[in-house]
Amino acid sequence: MCELTEKLFWKDMYMREFDAKVESVDETGVRLDRTAFNPRGGGLVSDIGKLNDAEVTEVVKKDEEVYHVLGGGATLKAGDAVHGVIDWEKRHRVMRMHTTAHILSAVVNRETGALITGNSIAPIESRIDFSLEAFDKEQFGAYVKMANEAAASGAEVQSFFMKREEALSTPGLVKLANALPPAVAELRIVKIGEIDTQADGGVHVKNTSEIGEIVVNRIENKGKSNRRLYFSLKP
Ligand SMILES: [Zn+2]
Repeated sequence: MCELTEKLFWKDMYMREFDAKVESVDETGVRLDRTAFNPRGGGLVSDIGKLNDAEVTEVVKKDEEVYHVLGGGATLKAGDAVHGVIDWEKRHRVMRMHTTAHILSAVVNRETGALITGNSIAPIESRIDFSLEAFDKEQFGAYVKMANEAAASGAEVQSFFMKREEALSTPGLVKLANALPPAVAELRIVKIGEIDTQADGGVHVKNTSEIGEIVVNRIENKGKSNRRLYFSLKP
């Protein structure tokens, strides 16, 4: 049994380049001893970029391990030294979108009690699903304004680890308890100022002032009590 890949993106979410060693190559992808590539998961699209000259087209998680899927013609093998470069433009937009989704969700939850039933975080447009029967367009406009004020306040975003039992016994911290892998003894917690604190594995900006302006594009009814909110960011 070998060690899990060291998740550099948890240590430093602003790491754009890194050096690593190839541990294995199989049909799932290339496994490294350490990586700054954030895999697809938790509603977030994966990073793309390069490992040496090879294109990284997708990064996936399987059994808590990170696998890099390479474009055609790549010839990496176990033991190779690699230099990884993240497509930073895509990644930073995903970080901004993800922190925004937490802020919007926190505001809507606080104001309506609505629970988040799903989300999809992508560079250009993202969406959040709320479990909410009554929906008032004007009211929603007010929530977006609150979210924008929260973003503009320049709240610091911190991430740290907490013992699993402690996190599970803190009200509101673990919103998707059954989605957590039982083997994980410590949970990563992300705290956005006084706005939102929860167990979360994804990448975020370090200060909400990086978000810019949140724009809600449309809201769709997806079933009796499901409202799907689409948003983007300016600039
Ligand atoms: Zn999240």
